[in-house]
Amino acid sequence: MDLQTLFTFETFQQVCGPYGYGGDLQDVVEREFARIKGITYLDHAAATLHPECLVRDYALDISSIVYGNPHSHSPSSRLTHDTVERIRYRVLQHFNANPEEYSVIFTSGCTAALKLVAESFPWRPQTESEAGSRFCYLTDSHTSVVGIRGVTSARGVVAMPVSPQEVENRAKEEPQGDDVICLTPHLFCYPAQSNFSGRKYPLSHVEGIQARRLYPACDHHGRWFVLLDAASHVSCSPLNLQDCPADFIPISFYKIFGFPTGLGALIVRNDAAGILKKTYFGGGTAAAYLSGEDYYVHSASISDRFEDGTVSFLDIVALNHGFEALYKITGGMHNIQQHTFGLARYTYMLLSSLCHGNGQPVARIYTEGQFESPSTQGAILNFNLMDSYGQIIGYSQVDRMASLYNIHVRTGCFCNTGACQSFLGITNQHMRRNLQAGHVCGDSIDLVDGQPTGSVRVSFGYMSTFEDCQKFLNFVAECFVEKPVRVDQVRLEQLKTTTAASQGSNGDLPTKITNEEIHRVEEKKPIDASLKRFGDRDSKSRVEAYTLTSIYIYPIKSCGAYEVHDWPVGPQGLLYDRGWMVVNGNGVCLSQKRETRLCLIRPQVHLPSNKLLLQASEMDTISVPLDNNTQTHTSFQVCQSKVCGDRVETVDCGDEAASWLSDFLGQPCRLIRQSPYFTREMKKRPSSASTSTSLSLANEAQYLMINHASVELIQKQMSTRFEHRMCY
Ligand SMILES: *Cc1c(COP(=O)(O)O)cnc(C)c1O
Repeated sequence: MDLQTLFTFETFQQVCGPYGYGGDLQDVVEREFARIKGITYLDHAAATLHPECLVRDYALDISSIVYGNPHSHSPSSRLTHDTVERIRYRVLQHFNANPEEYSVIFTSGCTAALKLVAESFPWRPQTESEAGSRFCYLTDSHTSVVGIRGVTSARGVVAMPVSPQEVENRAKEEPQGDDVICLTPHLFCYPAQSNFSGRKYPLSHVEGIQARRLYPACDHHGRWFVLLDAASHVSCSPLNLQDCPADFIPISFYKIFGFPTGLGALIVRNDAAGILKKTYFGGGTAAAYLSGEDYYVHSASISDRFEDGTVSFLDIVALNHGFEALYKITGGMHNIQQHTFGLARYTYMLLSSLCHGNGQPVARIYTEGQFESPSTQGAILNFNLMDSYGQIIGYSQVDRMASLYNIHVRTGCFCNTGACQSFLGITNQHMRRNLQAGHVCGDSIDLVDGQPTGSVRVSFGYMSTFEDCQKFLNFVAECFVEKPVRVDQVRLEQLKTTTAASQGSNGDLPTKITNEEIHRVEEKKPIDASLKRFGDRDSKSRVEAYTLTSIYIYPIKSCGAYEVHDWPVGPQGLLYDRGWMVVNGNGVCLSQKRETRLCLIRPQVHLPSNKLLLQASEMDTISVPLDNNTQTHTSFQVCQSKVCGDRVETVDCGDEAASWLSDFLGQPCRLIRQSPYFTREMKKRPSSASTSTSLSLANEAQYLMINHASVELIQKQMSTRFEHRMCY
């Protein structure tokens, strides 16, 4: 069996359950998701994609029907009111919740729903005579849950992070029963599914905590409420609130339907809603109030009471079309769960069995189980890749390579520092040290002292296909595996028959993959020997003189190079190097990643005539002045642009250059240059540098030095890759 065979649909079908939704999934994707052609979108846990029929039907709906403000009483307003009420009911139905027991409060998202609970929960502070409320949360929680601490600590309430193991391990033998004497309210929050690892936590925790059987409820008298953060869970899984009577369930709708964004809900048990204390009262929430006196009576309806102001009623109308489209395409959440779990399980099995030529595993996957069942694992895979010496490859490198292959993944810590720390083994001290080393959430500093600061997450949606897995696995094999690619067959076989008992890979030798057959590897190649080839990478002893052989400047960012032999240097490096850039119709900078034809434009700087020449084959050469400072204020528009996240002030170079570029690139473009009155400072300044360095439109630094050996290595790698490609 070769890699091609392992990466085929036949293999997939042998190991994973039902695929698709009865019809031809490829057809559905081509019809409803034509925009992802050529893209491997694997970031559904961050935002899934909406089908075209959703927005088409929605557009038709709101273009043909008049929806007024639901707080008015005109016919159009009543229609809106009734439609919104019907959709509330539909949301409850989706979660098998009875309107007698649950209400839907629309919010701007899951985070807003969490904030609503945080700010209205009747926290009781700790005093000398009373222990007070507890705010407990599983350490594997989203930032938006941990952030409730900001509210509770200000109110003197004790926050208790609880690790996933503690909940059951520290439970008491005897149920603690109803507490009639002490009514102190406590809140326990946990995710139904981790947005980091896709692990699903037992829904039975809800009743366990409410009945004070589980830790920490068993240790604290009072009334325990459970907030089940379902934002990640509900995107690919059914949730039945009859089975798990959580008190507060926050969700965001774009994670289920892809559209609309900016709309979420707090699904709340009606009896739990009764204890919430709201202070602010906005439009629509009052039964009556006086403007001149402190008199306010809230509305009897739970939703009305907590929805300050006018709800986003047109977005709520879109939910109807969201449900329609979802059920029409998939038949329901159970099917979605089966389908997406199969994709995740297959990807897990292959990625965790993939080995380098020397037998070292390629990926370290952050998971508790072995993807044995959709009841314990969602469609998320979180991992770091390793080189053939077992060293972690930083997530930024993986992210960048993936982008070149148009594979969209998420990297970093995923707004879940708790899970990140626990899986990656980052201590609190390390976290602080990483910050000192300049690493902040969301940046590209992926390794500090060789230790990862985050990881890579791949997640599936209901329209993900087997081809997505295939593309991703081929990408890993092609870019990050030292050839020949091997697969640990023993591990793979084990995983195929995995039961709940988790089993690690045993010491068996991985099999070498060839294009024809499998060979048992006779012996593991000692790693030391293969290391020698590269020499001692950390050696500082070699102090040799280097010779500068060529100088290239790139007058227009991302366009062709211009070779020079001696060249003036200015405060921003080589004069006119990356002084200009091309932007699209929306003013967004074009790079070769977005527009490959840029490399065919060959700009030249002609100093004697003070001109920048634009040339490309089959185009007339045109010129723009090198310095147009004098004209800046009169004929050229100053605009704001972004380069690598930095704000830069730029000036437009006029219509002639714009139409030349638009002709050549086949889309409306303009040529702009950095404003001469603007200084942009280098972000990643070495800590030793005392003065700051100013930059042109370059991404990171004034100069980029490349040695011949690196260029030759790349050339060699490219030609060998063409000779015997392992993958398609
Ligand atoms: C996405 C997510 C959130 C936050 O949702 P927003 O839409 O950003 O408000 C909270 N918790 C979990 C588990 C999530 O996956």
